[in-house]
Amino acid sequence: MDVTASSLSPRRKTRQIAVGKVLVGGDAPISVQSMTTTKTADVEGTLAQIYALAAEGADIVRCTCNEVAAAEGLAQIVPRSPVPIVADIHFHVEMALAALEAGVQGLRLNPGNLRKPEEIKLVASEARDRGVPIRIGVNAGSLHPDIYERFGGATPEALVESARIELAYFEEVGFSDVKISVKASSVATMIAAYRLASETFDHPLHLGVTEAGPLPGGLLKGTAGIATLLAEGIGDTFRYSLTADPVEEARAGRQLLEALGLRERKGLDLIACPSCGRAEVDVIKVANEAQTALAALNLPIQVAVMGCVVNGPGEARHADLGIAAGKKRGHLFIKGEIVRVVKEEDMVEALVEEAKKIAAEGVEARLAARDLGAAAEAEADRALLLDSRGADANHSNERIAQIRRRTEQ
Ligand code: SF4
Repeated sequence: MDVTASSLSPRRKTRQIAVGKVLVGGDAPISVQSMTTTKTADVEGTLAQIYALAAEGADIVRCTCNEVAAAEGLAQIVPRSPVPIVADIHFHVEMALAALEAGVQGLRLNPGNLRKPEEIKLVASEARDRGVPIRIGVNAGSLHPDIYERFGGATPEALVESARIELAYFEEVGFSDVKISVKASSVATMIAAYRLASETFDHPLHLGVTEAGPLPGGLLKGTAGIATLLAEGIGDTFRYSLTADPVEEARAGRQLLEALGLRERKGLDLIACPSCGRAEVDVIKVANEAQTALAALNLPIQVAVMGCVVNGPGEARHADLGIAAGKKRGHLFIKGEIVRVVKEEDMVEALVEEAKKIAAEGVEARLAARDLGAAAEAEADRALLLDSRGADANHSNERIAQIRRRTEQ
């Protein structure tokens, strides 16, 4: 775990449950979830999507179970899925029972949809007997009308109360293998609801901003809510709810955890400067080309693309590998140390080649194999650039003299 994770608030202690082979809560890694958009009865189509989601970082995948054909599909999907499958039950108790018969590793019940206490308790009893956990998935948009009325709306308190009532039914039948979500499409409501939930329950919490919408706004809303809570130590698993290919949800989830230092990097992390007037190259173009070329290598490496040699290598010295542009050349650096100077048109190729060598030989070996003249060459380019655009490009001395003349008057 890197230093960024230890800079966050300590994780709140929760119970641990097992969704198939994936542990959720306690000290288990925070898991990423997503949901298929195929008809669950379409077994091959659904499995193809589940595999795509798992490849992008989903640890758990949810499928809808809205009809008998969907439950029958689940019976065939579950044994072939690379990740545990959770069935989403909408309004019918029969579908919950059918999904359990299909062998799913988890259920999601919405207290606003399945409302009869005897039905809730029946599902909880069956899940208890089979050792299958349930998510109490409260949603501000489908809150039980009685609670909505009592609280005067879908307030954070109302969402948590809905979960508490459902949990009490479960506890009546001795079932506590539960995780809880209190989602809302309002980021502020969702954050407040989860804060309250984490004070109220010690069950694992599943985070999410519901109906966040299409990219890029949906991603921003999801991140605003989920990342805020994770940074406070709240949350054990989460899903981005995007109006997009669900692969985007899985990818974003994984990237968020890696960015927060909560999961180890599995793939490329390409960082790049935002570019500015000092840039010696089209940073956006080079960064995009590097992203495409390096992503194909599938290596857990952080690579920097920096627009100028004046600030680039220093600002990105934490990156495993990077390149900075200057004087029609690229300064290739490893951990901030210049190792080679290449032609501008060879920058991306040089990054790809060096990334492969770092993966094969390690950082130390590649630093030892540096081109010994590179640092001096790079320093000369840097000095030239500083001279032409640097400290006195603003005619500082003349300006200072003018300021002094004015302030002396
Ligand atoms: S690295 Fe250079 S080009 Fe990029 S933002 Fe910083 S100063 Fe500007």
